[in-house]
Amino acid sequence: ASARKPLIAGNWKMNLNHLEAIALVQKIAFALPAKYFDKVDVTVIPPFTDIRSVQTVVDGDKLLLTYGAQDLSQHDSGAYTGEISGAFLAKLGCTHVVVGHSERRTLHAETDEIVLAKTKAALKHGLTPIVCIGEGLDVRESGEHVAYNVAQIKGSLAGLSAEDISKTVIAYEPVWAIGTGRVASAEDAQEVNSAIRAAIAEIADDATAAGIRILYGGSVNAKNVGDIVGQNDVDGALVGGASLKSDEFATLSAIA
Ligand code: PEP
Repeated sequence: ASARKPLIAGNWKMNLNHLEAIALVQKIAFALPAKYFDKVDVTVIPPFTDIRSVQTVVDGDKLLLTYGAQDLSQHDSGAYTGEISGAFLAKLGCTHVVVGHSERRTLHAETDEIVLAKTKAALKHGLTPIVCIGEGLDVRESGEHVAYNVAQIKGSLAGLSAEDISKTVIAYEPVWAIGTGRVASAEDAQEVNSAIRAAIAEIADDATAAGIRILYGGSVNAKNVGDIVGQNDVDGALVGGASLKSDEFATLSAIA
């Protein structure tokens, strides 16, 4: 629906060990021949412990799909037990990293300030942060969802230069649609994504707003993806559950 090349990102969450990861990537590659990559970028986001194995398959088979991580530390190295640095991810060939997923915001109390620090860490190491925002059901029902998402994206990117913002991807993921099977309507996605784009024009500039990719996420599958990415301001999808099924993920990537 625009000149922007769509991005389909498959967030595996805490699913699949490294052997299962190898099998899934091989199946996706088989189901999604190279010709599709002219019109869509596809990335898989496995657990940290799978990344080295995914790298081996992608490099060994010269696949065009890329891979990334679900989170990163805001620090580069040091006494941060259990954390993973953006430097490590870059060294493993990751291209993307999800930042501020609603499950991290909720279960790990990640604030906009933390999300901003992680976004900066990703950019520092040459990774593309996929910065996630989205309202809960209470906000949606109050009718304040547009203002809520605009405030969240401004907080999550506060103080970044237009050049830095242009290197990010934004994902609008209404919390009530994640993992619930209750997808937002295409109009709902368009409404919020266009408001996010307007906010980017405000905090960066028009060219950055026109170029940045803004995804939708929340119960996307092969049946509904066409409608959603057909909207002017929806430039792809962040896909959870459906990204674990090779045929469905390949099919929805091909449709996008
Ligand atoms: C997600 O985890 O980012 C997501 C959108 O999940 P699902 O597609 O399963 O709703």
